Amino acid sequence: MAGRIRDEDIALVREKSAIDEVVGEYLQLRNAGGGSLKGLCPFHDEKTPSFNVTPARGLWYCFSCAEGGDVIKFVGKIDNLAFVEAVERLAARAGIDLRYEQGGQVPGREHSQRRRLLEAHKAAAEFYARSEERRVGKEGRSRWSPDH
Ligand SMILES: [Zn+2]
Repeated sequence: MAGRIRDEDIALVREKSAIDEVVGEYLQLRNAGGGSLKGLCPFHDEKTPSFNVTPARGLWYCFSCAEGGDVIKFVGKIDNLAFVEAVERLAARAGIDLRYEQGGQVPGREHSQRRRLLEAHKAAAEFYARSEERRVGKEGRSRWSPDH
């Protein structure tokens, strides 16, 4: 379980991730008048644009899917990411260093990943050692077996 990202950092990510720019990396947006943009919805197949983006409000909405949300939800939905992953993706894009609640949660996660890796190395080493023993043992037996 990843650490909870601080609310003010999530707000900062939203503020620094212009929705028209982020959405514009996935689909082509055209001026739709009234301060909004529109394009072909990436979440369903369509020939006439029903996907609307309102940069001033930081929101998107598809009239055909009846789905919408903010820039974080868009990235999460289009790249199939969990909320935290979507925030991390956008933070990296905007060059924001995220801070997490309860300090050590994220270093803790890295630590356990490292430990798992070390355990995997140890298990592999033991496996090779065992199969080496078996190989030597077999050779030893065939070479020195009194049956031959
Ligand atoms: Zn749609």
